[in-house]
Parts: sequence; C-alpha cells; structure tokens
Amino acid sequence: MDQILRINMSAKGGPEFKKEPAGKYAGMGGRALTSAIVASEVNPQAHPLGEENKLVIAPGLLSGSAAAMSGRISIGCKSPLTGGIKEANSGGQAAQVLARLGYAAIVLEGKVPEGELYKILINKDGVKIDKAQEYKMLPNYDLIDKIKDMYGDKVACISIGPAGEMKLSAASIAVTDMEFRPSRHAGRGGVGAVMGSKGVKVIILDDSGIENRKPADPDKFREANKKFVEGLRTHAVTGSALPSYGTNVLSNIINEAGGFPTRNFKEGRFEDTASISGETFADLETKRGGNFTHGCHRGCVIRCSGIYNDKNGKYLSKQPEYETVWAHGANCGINDPDVIATLDFLDDNYGVDTIDMGAAIAIAMEAGLIKFGDGEGAINLVKEVGKGTPLGRILGSGAAVTAKVLGVEKAPVVKGQAMPAYDPRAIQGIGVTYATSTMGADHTAGYCITANVLKVGGFVDPLKPEGQTDLSRNLQIATAAIDSTGMCLFIAFAILDQPETFQALLDIINAFYGLNMTGDDVANLGKKVLSMEREFNKKAGFTAQDDRLPRYFYTDKLPPHNTVFTVTDSELDSVFNW
Ligand code: SF4
Repeated sequence: MDQILRINMSAKGGPEFKKEPAGKYAGMGGRALTSAIVASEVNPQAHPLGEENKLVIAPGLLSGSAAAMSGRISIGCKSPLTGGIKEANSGGQAAQVLARLGYAAIVLEGKVPEGELYKILINKDGVKIDKAQEYKMLPNYDLIDKIKDMYGDKVACISIGPAGEMKLSAASIAVTDMEFRPSRHAGRGGVGAVMGSKGVKVIILDDSGIENRKPADPDKFREANKKFVEGLRTHAVTGSALPSYGTNVLSNIINEAGGFPTRNFKEGRFEDTASISGETFADLETKRGGNFTHGCHRGCVIRCSGIYNDKNGKYLSKQPEYETVWAHGANCGINDPDVIATLDFLDDNYGVDTIDMGAAIAIAMEAGLIKFGDGEGAINLVKEVGKGTPLGRILGSGAAVTAKVLGVEKAPVVKGQAMPAYDPRAIQGIGVTYATSTMGADHTAGYCITANVLKVGGFVDPLKPEGQTDLSRNLQIATAAIDSTGMCLFIAFAILDQPETFQALLDIINAFYGLNMTGDDVANLGKKVLSMEREFNKKAGFTAQDDRLPRYFYTDKLPPHNTVFTVTDSELDSVFNW
C-alpha cells in the first residue's frame, strides 16, 4: 500500500493516470490521508465542483490485512454541502480490495467536459479508463447489475447514482457489500457530487490473484488480533446489542432519553417508536427470511448490518441504519418499517445521504408539501430526486437548501449539513460535536452518546453543560485517529470501556508496521488530523460563528425535558484548545 494513483480527468485526449510513491504521505491512511491531501493540494477557495477540487479515496492503515474490522474506506474532498473539508467513510468491500492492490489512495483530479462519463478498472495488471456513456443516469443497483454481467460478482465497486451525476449537494458514493449490492455509502457532505463533477460513474476494483497484506511481525499480530476480537465479543454493545438489533437498537434508547428528534426536531419522543425499533425490524427480518446479523465486509466480527425483505420474502433493502430509521421515521412522523426500508433503498439507488434526505423531507412536510406521517408522499418525493425534477434537485441538495427554497425558518443544520438522530437539547454533548466538528453536524465525529446516554467510558449528565466540551474534544480526537486506521468506529464502545482491548488495537498496529506507538501517539495523530482540517476550514472562510447551533436550539424548549442547549459560546470555542 505504498502507491498513490492519480487520475487526471482533464488531460488532453482523455483521462490519464500515473502511479507515484506515497512520498510525504507515507505512513498515513484513511481520514489522515484524505485530509492531508485535500489540505495540502486543494485551494480552500476552490469551488467544490470545479477543476481545482480533488476527490481522494483511501483505505485505512490496516485495510487489506487480516485485522478484524479494518474495512472502512475514507473519501475526502472540499464539500459542496458545507464548503469545508470533508471526510465521509463507508463499509463494504472496497477498502480491503484497494489496499490489497497496493494503493494508499486514488486521487481524482481535474474535470471532464460536461456530460462525459467514465468507468475505471483497477486490477493486478494495472488501470484501465473507458468511456461509460451507456451508464448515464443509471441508479446504483441497476448499474451494479450491469457490472456483474461484465466483471462477475467477486469485484468491489465504488459508484454514484443519478444524484451524483446531477451534482446534488447531498449525493453519496456507494460501495458494494459482500453480496455485491451497492448498499454501503459514504453518505455525508455531497462527496457523490464531487465524483460526478469528475465524470466518474464507477471504479471497479479486482484483487483476484492477490493475497492479504502481511504484517511485519505475524505472531504478535495474530495474538493481538485474537485479543482484540475477544474484547469486541465480550462487550455488551459490540458483542450483543449491535449483532442482535443493529444500530437501530438505539431507537428505544434515544426515545427513552427524550432525545429522539420527532417531526422536524419539535419533540424528543415519538409515540410510535415501538413500531420502528431495532427489535421490530429484527423480528420482521427473521419472519421474512432476511437476516438480522450480517457483516458489511469480510473480517467484520460485530456484524451490525442485516438484510430486510418485503412481505413476499424478496430483498427490499439492507437493514436500515438507526439514523435512516430516525430520518425517515420519527423525524417525518412515519411509523411503517416497510415504508422506511423502501426509502432507504431509494436513497441508496439514486445515491443520496439518508440523513440529509430525511431532514429535507421533514422540512418539506413542515412547509406543507405533504403531511407529517405521509409515507407514500415521502416515497414520491424521493422519486422526484431520481427523476431529476426541479423539486427533486432541491430536495437532493439537502435540508439547508430545501429550507431556504421552501421558506422554512427552523432547519436543523450546522455548516449546511443536517443534524443526525440525536437532539442536542436533550443530549448536550452531541450538540458540542455538531457545532464544532470540522465536518458540519456529524454524530460520528465525536459520538458523545457514549457517556451521555449509554454510560460507556463514564457518565456525563446529558441535560447539563458541565463536562460536555471535554467529552466532545476527547472523542473527536479519538475518532480522527480511528478513522485513519480503517477500523469501523463501532470498536470505540469496547476500546473506551476495556483498556486491554485498546491495548490490543495498539498492538495490532505496532505488529503490522513494526512500530512502538503508544496511546499518546494515537491522540497526537487525532489532533494532527483535526488541526489540518480546522486550518483548511479557516482558509475557506469559516469563523467561530460557524461553530454554533441554529439559534432556535438556544430558545425553543424540547419536550419532554423542556430544555434548551446551554453550552456557552466560549466553551464551544475551547474545544480545540490543546
Ligand atoms: S460493525 Fe457494522 S458497520 Fe461496522 S464493519 Fe461491521 S457491519 Fe459494517
């Protein structure tokens, strides 16, 4: 994994590629690498859809090895949604395959003439770039069917749907899973629009004939990996809750905590949560011949994913994630799991972020386009995106744009990105992360639900401001480091609670690379990544005023606790003081 593949989409006579040594980026992976390349090579003033922006696709440091959970892929660029730096990561098979092929990153540069579309094949023999006009405006599932006919189902794909081709700011990038379905997405920040602006419809990765990456010390690596897996299996969240109910185990928990945003963030509890809970989905999946525990890539031992079938036992979508169930469920007042799974499928097929899409639909409901609770109406709105109608293009540009166009005052966004499934008035720590993250409102950037609600890694009262900035700071630092390893973020539950599991993770990295990294080194890596990202955003024009929640979170009380967000501006401004 010591090469960077640069593809210049602007080259005269058609796209050209070159392979070069990692050079100054050697030893970086995942988010550290995508953010380092974007921060050092992209003009912060560049238009996100212009020639100067770059799309960087990087597996993590441990991807392509036998390390459990190491299959996340990071995708970075200047975001068309936030206007700042972006790293969105995804599961699926691509990270493992790309790392085995020997690439630390693919960098898409330049821009093709409007309307040109390409596919890129990367295998052990090299790189082949061909025109792919025949794939124009194909939804992701239809595209992958065609790829399967030509290349079989043992390859991995990174692709965009119509939303990416239309360069909508909430467009996602799809990654195929173990069953070769485009069900895993780098969802946030409009990374799909940047891939669309480069004119790349699909990247096909074929690692046939190539083995796993080998550790520097195989015995120590094997031993550490064994302890790491044991730690994940022992912890209640990673060993039991996530495998049994997936991420949607959280619906009941967050509803109970009064932080389950309902009907466009008006209430903190949804009366029909039982109908859309993880327990209900798992039950339906079992009855209909789906699967409630499933890994999104080889080497996952937590297996939080699943397969959701329709009433006739036919595949409808992957098991929707908690944030998707919330975005299209409680946030839109919808209580039907089949409707939510259909919306999940449509989002994946057209290639849009389920969080920003659900938030945009709730805003359309607020504006009176359809009523809260109208499942068929919500399905029709997402279909507008697939058809590319003016309304669909507005919705597919995310919640902030939709609110402006429809004249809705209360849009739950930070830096232009929609808040996910946790109301910051009832869970104040996550509000600090939403406000200050370099990524815009992003729960994964510093998941304070751990100590605020789940009592993992200690307890910080979710309704009070005390302790929230420290909590968010430490989690943002740890997350930036984990996102650089290629490890799924869900390992955080076990490594926060179990020192021996954290040590096993360090031992895996050290045994693989022949290093002696300590916990402090990991923290320093996280700080370095965040500092690079903050610096880019500053040069792009962000100020302290952008590190705030929308005003109504400070004034409108949220039932049932009737609280507002009370962390002060000066506390928010202290998050990155280290
Ligand atoms: S825990 Fe879930 S998201 Fe993480 S790698 Fe496994 S299936 Fe994918």
